[in-house]
Amino acid sequence: MQTDITLYCGAILHALSPQKCQYIPNGGLVVRSTTVLFAGEREEALRLYPFAVVVDYSSAILLPGFIDTHVHLPQWPIIGLGGGELLEWLQTRVFPSEAQYANPDIARLRSAQFFRDALACGTTAMAVYCSPFYTATHEAFRAAAESGIRAVMGRTLMDTGAPPVLLASAEQNIAESIQLANNWHLYDEGRLRYAVTPRFALSCTPDLLRRCGEFARAEHLVIQTHLSENLFELAAVAQAFPEHASYTEVYDHFGLLTHRSVFAHCIHLTAHEQQALRDNNCAVSHCPTSNRFLQSGVMALRRYMNAGTTIALGTDVGAGYSLSVLHEAKEAIETSKSWNIIHRSEPEAALTPEEALWLATLAGAEVLDMGSTAGNFLPGKEADFIAVEKPYYSADTDTPGEAIARLMYSSPRILATYVRGKKLYQFGQPTATF
Ligand SMILES: [Zn+2]
Repeated sequence: MQTDITLYCGAILHALSPQKCQYIPNGGLVVRSTTVLFAGEREEALRLYPFAVVVDYSSAILLPGFIDTHVHLPQWPIIGLGGGELLEWLQTRVFPSEAQYANPDIARLRSAQFFRDALACGTTAMAVYCSPFYTATHEAFRAAAESGIRAVMGRTLMDTGAPPVLLASAEQNIAESIQLANNWHLYDEGRLRYAVTPRFALSCTPDLLRRCGEFARAEHLVIQTHLSENLFELAAVAQAFPEHASYTEVYDHFGLLTHRSVFAHCIHLTAHEQQALRDNNCAVSHCPTSNRFLQSGVMALRRYMNAGTTIALGTDVGAGYSLSVLHEAKEAIETSKSWNIIHRSEPEAALTPEEALWLATLAGAEVLDMGSTAGNFLPGKEADFIAVEKPYYSADTDTPGEAIARLMYSSPRILATYVRGKKLYQFGQPTATF
């Protein structure tokens, strides 16, 4: 019998909320074409859908695809290459790497590899900063389109504070962003979306920041930028924008605090700034690996979560050195313990494995406005999922927290990655085309 229904047999592991995850050792995920029909006990799936085509992942765990809310495409080639703290590292490592993307051939090849590598890490959706060039950003969108991944991304906008080759006038930056958005925003029924992407306050004149706010609000676009990452950066922002009381107020002044704004890092925010983000329903992308790599600081994750700040995870490649959001989730747990090592007299509860999985999946989907279509296996959502090698020492009696922890700390192989029910990556299959 012909059917467009597929039953993927494997353990099921997904987050329903920060505290509640579901682990079904003998599970089944039923997908009709692009959509989740059922996730639960395998026997029940077989009873409900006896004619489904069966795909065997019984030695694997099926999870929702990971969601990376902060990553730089043109920094993938410089992972691990240090060079001081943030402002120095930008000059010594980032800007020279991003300048190479002025060459459209390099941009094309590296963009294609970037999305293949992300899919190989189990990422099904990501918020991407492209290079500061129109053609290279166009190539990045084309590569994302061909890869099948979901992406919210934009050209990194700069009109000051970097080598001239990386700069364009505020007018040109926005005019070309409009053109890119016209070409790519809502491509493939919204699989790709355009994000207004000023790098950070020190890369933008007031004119560019104002235009970014106007453009994003007029077109209802995601805004992504960096905020309060490094203490030297904070001092430089205070010097560049002396009329504003805080870093957050700079962005607020130019209309960049919206319910579609995603601010990376947010390590050194005052209580007042944190409240401003909550008042405007802004999201924070927590990037613990990067925060350590650049010695930026330890973000008060538990306090932010307790206060109700919207938060998810970002790999922040290239200061982050892995495209794996699973790796980042583990780092989020370990970094929450570092907080306690540093603040012995005012400890906070460490992040739990359940919370870490939630941050890596459903929370990311909600931050990128995909909460109704991705992030877990509720029926009706789109079938963005991965099959991950199950540690051989797993037990059917594992709690959800134990199953997540075993997975996270074993650095498992990603066996397959699907978006909208379509397999985009399979372990062992050659992916490089050049
Ligand atoms: Zn970043």
